[in-house]
Amino acid sequence: MIRKFITRVLGRKKPLSSEPAVIPHSSHGIRREHLASAARRTCEGLQERGYKAYVVGGAVRDLLMGEKPKDFDIATNATPEQVRQTFRRARIIGRRFQIVHVMMGAETLEVTTFRGALAHDTKKDDHGRVLHDNVFGTQAEDAARRDFTVNALYYDPASETIIDYHHGVADLKQKTLRMIGEPRARYREDPVRMLRAVRLAAKLGLSIDPAAAKPIREMADLLENVPAARLFDEMLKLLTSGHAVKCLTQLRDAGLHHGLLPLLDVILEQPMGERFVMLALDNTDQRVRVGKPVSPGFLFATLLWHEVLAQWERIQAKGERPIPALFAAMDEVLDSQAEKLAITRRIAGDIKDIWALQPRFESRAGKRPYALLEQQRFRAGYDFLLLRAASGEVPEELADWWTRFMDADGEGRAAMLVPDTEVKKKRRRRKKPAGQSTPQPE
Ligand code: ATP
Ligand code: MG
Repeated sequence: MIRKFITRVLGRKKPLSSEPAVIPHSSHGIRREHLASAARRTCEGLQERGYKAYVVGGAVRDLLMGEKPKDFDIATNATPEQVRQTFRRARIIGRRFQIVHVMMGAETLEVTTFRGALAHDTKKDDHGRVLHDNVFGTQAEDAARRDFTVNALYYDPASETIIDYHHGVADLKQKTLRMIGEPRARYREDPVRMLRAVRLAAKLGLSIDPAAAKPIREMADLLENVPAARLFDEMLKLLTSGHAVKCLTQLRDAGLHHGLLPLLDVILEQPMGERFVMLALDNTDQRVRVGKPVSPGFLFATLLWHEVLAQWERIQAKGERPIPALFAAMDEVLDSQAEKLAITRRIAGDIKDIWALQPRFESRAGKRPYALLEQQRFRAGYDFLLLRAASGEVPEELADWWTRFMDADGEGRAAMLVPDTEVKKKRRRRKKPAGQSTPQPE
């Protein structure tokens, strides 16, 4: 009572936000055994040398929600050099803001030194995006630099407590995604936070606090300014989150899809395109949820397919033959994405492979179906065909034929082949001048 009174009269020495709540195990329930042992050992290694070390960010949040964390990030007051010296297998990466990769068994953990508050003279671009930040700081400063309150939780395996500077545990209980600090300022510093808000809310079933949700629509254009490689990484996270349909729907509601995939808004306005994209994403979500791998190439191939179809038709209408026209359309569509979204070369290769296989599913005669089966990317091409059929773009019958062809034995396959008469006739006509052909039995 007396202390409360004195505090009220004299005021607090420090601002409230630098005095974290220390939440004991009895109220949050996370035991050190719930961590990956590599994460626990990394914290212990640092603590034995007298440093502070915590599991931080997404992993603590996911554990509180009863989900299995994707990975464990560690935050510490040791400098990168001190971290490196603590472990046998560790290396410093990054030039501006160094982090340390600590290798523990088969796992690699990212260990980050607490970041300091942004200085007033921090280098920013013309729109206010932070370009450099390389100062170390206190744990409180580190917490304030994080994006959402639920992401600023530190778990100490030694005491099994959670250090909570911004009421993140309470927000998580109330299913609210709340920005630390003033949302507009934080979006300006890093516009990718708008995408993170949508993705994390969809993934965790949280609702974005109105103060953080409201500015998104009007600030969406700032995403244009984000480097293409970063945008690609974030889009990939979003699409492989297991909640891609929800994310994309919310991105549209928030007006965020325009800058991301320049053609996506056009595609989503065509009924067939929308159906195809949504089926593809739904399919991906289901795979992610049962722990199956998803290929980024396949994903982006589906997102851009209807744009390829439109260009393909346009180029053929100008008199180009179908296959060269398809290849020209593929390049055009990928080039037009490149400005905004840095699709890596390897993934672009996968995308093209899948697209290029599609016309080959049309021939069901002679040796060609067998050759197609042998293609390295056949399975991806076939899965893609199934989606095209399900969305109504090609007849279901074609997809069914391939499903049966794959399952059939040697004789069964032979019996399924479509008679080759048409193909042969065409070839013969090309070889011999008209009038000289001798009729032959088929
Ligand atoms: P997930 O791993 O499930 O995608 P996450 O929150 O762990 O989600 P990461 O990208 O792994 O996301 O980031 C780890 C932590 O780093 C976050 O929890 C957050 O504290 C901080 N962080 C990441 N990106 C930003 C950002 N753009 N601005 C501020 N803090 C960020
Ligand atoms: Mg993470």
